[in-house]
Amino acid sequence: MNTIQLSVIIPVYNEEEGLQALFDRLYPALDKLGVAYEILFINDGSRDRSPAILREQFQNRPDVTRVILFQGNFGQHMAIMAGFEFAHGQRMVTLDADLQNPPEDIANLLSKMDEGHDYVGSIRRQRNDSWWRHAASRAMNNLRERITRIKITDQGCMLRAYDRKIIDAINSCKEVNTFIPALAYSFARNPAEVVVGHEERAAGESKYSLYSLIRLNFDLMTGFSVVPLQMFSMLGISISVLSAFFVAFLLVRRLIIGPEAEGLFTLFAIAFLLIGITLFGIGLLGEYVGRIYQQVRHRPRYLVDAVLERHE
Ligand code: UDP
Ligand code: MG
Repeated sequence: MNTIQLSVIIPVYNEEEGLQALFDRLYPALDKLGVAYEILFINDGSRDRSPAILREQFQNRPDVTRVILFQGNFGQHMAIMAGFEFAHGQRMVTLDADLQNPPEDIANLLSKMDEGHDYVGSIRRQRNDSWWRHAASRAMNNLRERITRIKITDQGCMLRAYDRKIIDAINSCKEVNTFIPALAYSFARNPAEVVVGHEERAAGESKYSLYSLIRLNFDLMTGFSVVPLQMFSMLGISISVLSAFFVAFLLVRRLIIGPEAEGLFTLFAIAFLLIGITLFGIGLLGEYVGRIYQQVRHRPRYLVDAVLERHE
């Protein structure tokens, strides 16, 4: 079992229209590499014919195909986590099922690893996304790099290669909210990035909305850094110091000049500012408390229905 050099991990969620095209390109591309490989498909609770198609493909190529069928929809990252735990390869490559990244580029990732990198990320050569995704992702990258020190040029691209050591580290993490490329990056000794091809989705539609992209970035910021929390306490401290001076100033003024009514609206402005900051702080605290809550529940991160694999 230890002889498997490469595991390719593919989460599948309602991809019935695209799976056959994926098989037609993925298997020849991997056969050509000349390494002992396995492909792990994780069906993330698809409600279409995807599980049936995967079963069929398992029967066609039982030598290199393994299928994990989840009981429900646990999300793309949990599916990849399950893949990491089940896979035997010395190196692992994650790939989306929708053919947005060409499977032929796996060879490029692996040759980059041969140069001694333990983590190889990817940058999409040509983005076919809408302009707001483009602008938003650039802004998020800047912010994220500044507060987490995680340098991922293109976080939307899941075609990435990881060394066994990194996978073992990831497997020992019991976090609930996580973003695998960032987690891997934080364990990598010598990360690198390569440019890969990018196409329109072959079939089906994207499973991600603007809302889930925003959620993902919250996971990234609060899951890998306490800077947002620290920033807020710094803000709180400076405001308290300033307002202490202000109160002292007003007190002295009151004693010298006597009562004044004109300052009322200034006071309102200050009060609203403080209310705003307080609300923001409560929201930010909620982010962390929410994570603590999820962590202490100790729920299983995913449930496996069946595993299709050949017994050695
Ligand atoms: N996916 C999944 N579970 C989900 C959503 C998505 O396993 O709940 C899989 C999906 O089948 C695909 C990959 O994750 O293989 C990426 O999804 P998608 O292509 O919709 O994301 P996008 O490329 O639009 O970011
Ligand atoms: Mg996609």
